[in-house]
Amino acid sequence: MTSKPPLILINTLIFSFTALAALTLAPLHGILVGYQGETLVLALLLWAWNGLSITAGYHRLWSHKAYSAHPAVQWFLAIGGAMALQNSILHWASDHRRHHKFVDDDHKDPYSASRGFWYSHIGWMLRNYQGEPDYTNVRDLQKNPIVMFQHRHYGWLVLVTNVILPLACGALIGDLWGTLLMAGVVRLVAMHHGTFFINSLAHIWGTQPYSDKQSSRDNAVLALFTFGEGYHNFHHTFEHDWRNGIRWFHFDPTKWLIALLARFRLASGLREVPAERIETAKLQMQLKQSRAVAQDRELSEEWLHLLEQQYQSVTERMRDYYQAKQAGLEQTRRQLDASARARLKELKHCLREQQQQWLKLRQQLASA
Ligand SMILES: [Zn+2]
Ligand SMILES: [Zn+2]
Repeated sequence: MTSKPPLILINTLIFSFTALAALTLAPLHGILVGYQGETLVLALLLWAWNGLSITAGYHRLWSHKAYSAHPAVQWFLAIGGAMALQNSILHWASDHRRHHKFVDDDHKDPYSASRGFWYSHIGWMLRNYQGEPDYTNVRDLQKNPIVMFQHRHYGWLVLVTNVILPLACGALIGDLWGTLLMAGVVRLVAMHHGTFFINSLAHIWGTQPYSDKQSSRDNAVLALFTFGEGYHNFHHTFEHDWRNGIRWFHFDPTKWLIALLARFRLASGLREVPAERIETAKLQMQLKQSRAVAQDRELSEEWLHLLEQQYQSVTERMRDYYQAKQAGLEQTRRQLDASARARLKELKHCLREQQQQWLKLRQQLASA
């Protein structure tokens, strides 16, 4: 039997004591003393700052380079990220790039979901499974002075933001213990487990609309408290896209923040996967899933034939529509004439109709 790597005492103590205090002292203080409104608002604001620093900063900006950000924005995200206490940008991005490159590999993916919920959620941080850090995959980030400043001074940035800041705010509000517990401890624990759920639950619970080559899942419920990172199957399939929730109704506050920053020229170079590639990936997955259903139920060859036929039709309509749209986009600068606009509308209608038929066929097949 191979022995487990040594425990990382500091991580184990921090995770255990903060969680314990959040579950016992915080509610007890609420019952016995109560919290002031200002304390709760402050805790929420700090939670959002930390959360968005991880998602818009650590994740989409530094790990994936999905966009570029003004130095002022980078400082804001670097400090907020240190407060979230998830290690420095450099370390986090290095782990995360390995997670994408070797996803689900028991040894090379640092928080491989194939090693179970506990390991991918928190277990991987409690023992020294990885040995000495290897930053060879983040050489680009080593040239960024803000990233390196945060890395070198990570320890005291954590102390100032997690202890001195809540203490000072508590003194100002006149609710020292309440602020320490709510804006200090509860905010940190909520922040931690929100992020950890992306490594654990978002690889277990949800749908796989874009790819089943790895375990990641799309999950709208997780998106609600992870600042939009619940659309993890999309993210693993198109990792350099600045969005995770691509439809307008997908809850992705990180995407909205980046769009807002871009509007004020504080963010630029937003990388976006062409819609046709996304739709094609989705269609291929639908065909694969429907084929599997047909084979599972040993349905007739006729079903498979119908599926292939409809799949071809949707693919063709899609190609026509996106080609016309691309041509239209190139023309827009010179004003898209009325007939081209009408043609595009007609193609879109044809595509929608074909997609409806495709959906109907798959529904029939599912209940056959
Ligand atoms: Zn990622
Ligand atoms: Zn993942």
